[in-house]
Amino acid sequence: MQTYDAIVIGNGLAGAALSYELAKAGQSVLLMDDGSPHSGTRYSYGGIGYWAGTTDLTETLFRAGIERHRELPEELDADTQLRELDLLLTVEKGADIDDLKSGYASFRTPPQFVDAQTAHEIEPQLNPEAIDGAFTIRHAHVDPMSLVSAYNQAFRRLGGHHNISAVTRLVRIGNKITGITTEAQAYPAKNVIVAAGAYSLQLIGSVGLQVSLFFTHAEIVETEPLDFEVRAFVMPATNARIVIENKATDPQAWQQPNHQVMPPVLEAGIIQFKNKTARIGQISRFHTAYTPPVDPQISEAEMRQAMEQRMPALKDVPGSWRHCLVTFSQDGLPLIGPLPTVTGLHLFSGFTGPFALVPPVAQLYAKYISQSSDPLIEKMLLSRFTGV
Ligand SMILES: Cc1cc2nc3c(=O)[nH]c(=O)nc-3n(C[C@H](O)[C@H](O)[C@H](O)COP(=O)(O)OP(=O)(O)OC[C@H]3O[C@@H](n4cnc5c(N)ncnc54)[C@H](O)[C@@H]3O)c2cc1C
Repeated sequence: MQTYDAIVIGNGLAGAALSYELAKAGQSVLLMDDGSPHSGTRYSYGGIGYWAGTTDLTETLFRAGIERHRELPEELDADTQLRELDLLLTVEKGADIDDLKSGYASFRTPPQFVDAQTAHEIEPQLNPEAIDGAFTIRHAHVDPMSLVSAYNQAFRRLGGHHNISAVTRLVRIGNKITGITTEAQAYPAKNVIVAAGAYSLQLIGSVGLQVSLFFTHAEIVETEPLDFEVRAFVMPATNARIVIENKATDPQAWQQPNHQVMPPVLEAGIIQFKNKTARIGQISRFHTAYTPPVDPQISEAEMRQAMEQRMPALKDVPGSWRHCLVTFSQDGLPLIGPLPTVTGLHLFSGFTGPFALVPPVAQLYAKYISQSSDPLIEKMLLSRFTGV
């Protein structure tokens, strides 16, 4: 049986990009995915906040991200539906605009404040009576599954193997991870790279290891094609989710089964895709269960109500409630690298802003795996938390 150079587990954005970059670097690669319809990538908005660098590292990576997205359609020979559009971060009535401005000042290219009427001119569907204004900046956008599919097709053209079945276990012999198993078969590999989103915790846990990876349960409404256009990418001008993510990383709280770590956050936002469907959202729940107790009807009603206030045309548009898991790390940087105490096992997950970050980081990580050094990758290694 073939021993692969690398087995990548998970065909969300992270696994799709990394498996392609490894194959391009000349490695023999097997990409495994369980085919679940609930990946974070499937229900993502696909926004590329390339302006959102706050440090030299994130500025460099976000800029590299948009450059990489511009190269990918030609390199992968597929349309990723990359486009530029206006991002509008709506300011709710009575919010402290100066406080929001000082929050955005930490970005190297901060979004600019505009009054409600100007926001309405940028996005005519927005009700100017419902907001006190908005912060705006140019943003980029791809269709998440077009990007994944573009990576997958190019990966297969390079000779990569793509198998749709769930990985049930990592194979550990002493201090070495030697491959994976599915219900049907075992596959040996020199390196196993876990890019399975929140399920990475389960897989890594199955060989007795732990990582500082956290997740939210995300809920959205996915609409049928709309008979009107929403030009801008609309999100609220609040960083409530990021603030709570920063507070929601107490490892002890996450060890309690079926436990709400922090209250849920509702962000009233919308993005319309080229096929006219839209994603309206989003509720993020900080809960230790992969499937927390949620009433889909209440969740959907809350999201619809919040968004219809800002965009009345959305009232009663046909749509369905969707849910998935989204990972994050303790410091907002990706959580990648070799696992300590074993050889042959890597994690590639925990990205905040993955649509900007994953394409360039996957490219760097594919080289790092064979060369074991890269100054940017070294700043994102998970050993920053374990110290090993
Ligand atoms: C509503 C919403 C809006 C978002 N908007 C943005 C945005 O605008 N910009 C941005 O950058 N990010 C955004 N995100 C976040 C982003 O979509 C996710 O963080 C990202 O797509 C995660 O990619 P991933 O590959 O790490 O994980 P996932 O997409 O979750 O992929 C993991 C894959 O692993 C598979 N898997 C799991 N277990 C196994 C197993 N045992 N065996 C085999 N396969 C397995 C799963 O089926 C899945 O396909 C958004 C997320 C949501 C939910």
